[in-house]
Amino acid sequence: MVQTDPNCIFCRIVAGTIPCHKVYEDDHVLAFLDIGPLSRGHTLVIPKGHWATLEQVSDEAGAAIGRVLPRLARAVLNATGAKEWNLLQNNGRAAHQVVDHVHFHIIPKIGDTGLGLDWPAGKLAGENAKALLNAMRQQL
Ligand code: AMP
Ligand code: ZN
Repeated sequence: MVQTDPNCIFCRIVAGTIPCHKVYEDDHVLAFLDIGPLSRGHTLVIPKGHWATLEQVSDEAGAAIGRVLPRLARAVLNATGAKEWNLLQNNGRAAHQVVDHVHFHIIPKIGDTGLGLDWPAGKLAGENAKALLNAMRQQL
């Protein structure tokens, strides 16, 4: 049994109490068209279980999503004729997450439509990288 949240709109879609345009479903994963698409074919891929953000997801659910993402992307590309696309996954309000149930956006880039991005790149300094790597490796 997966965990669900009765107040969560995506859990309700999984339960079938709110309709969706279903693209794909298996035991762990559901994919459906985004109701506010950035481009034609914009698709959401979600675990059936409720987790708010990606770092909380079980290994099993994460693996199930990873297994089908390339296939779903191929279907979106082949159906729309798009050749380029973005995978977007937002976690937390400041990171533009609105629905608190983990979801991956498959967003075709078609002409001017699709994802727009600001990319304010900094510079990685060697000494900072070393300390950061140590801290991160200790957490794995
Ligand atoms: P995010 O900002 O990453 O949380 O994105 C949430 C996405 O969910 C937005 O792109 C919405 O258009 C989409 N969305 C919200 N409600 C629904 C719904 N009932 N069916 C399909 N997509 C939805
Ligand atoms: Zn949910």
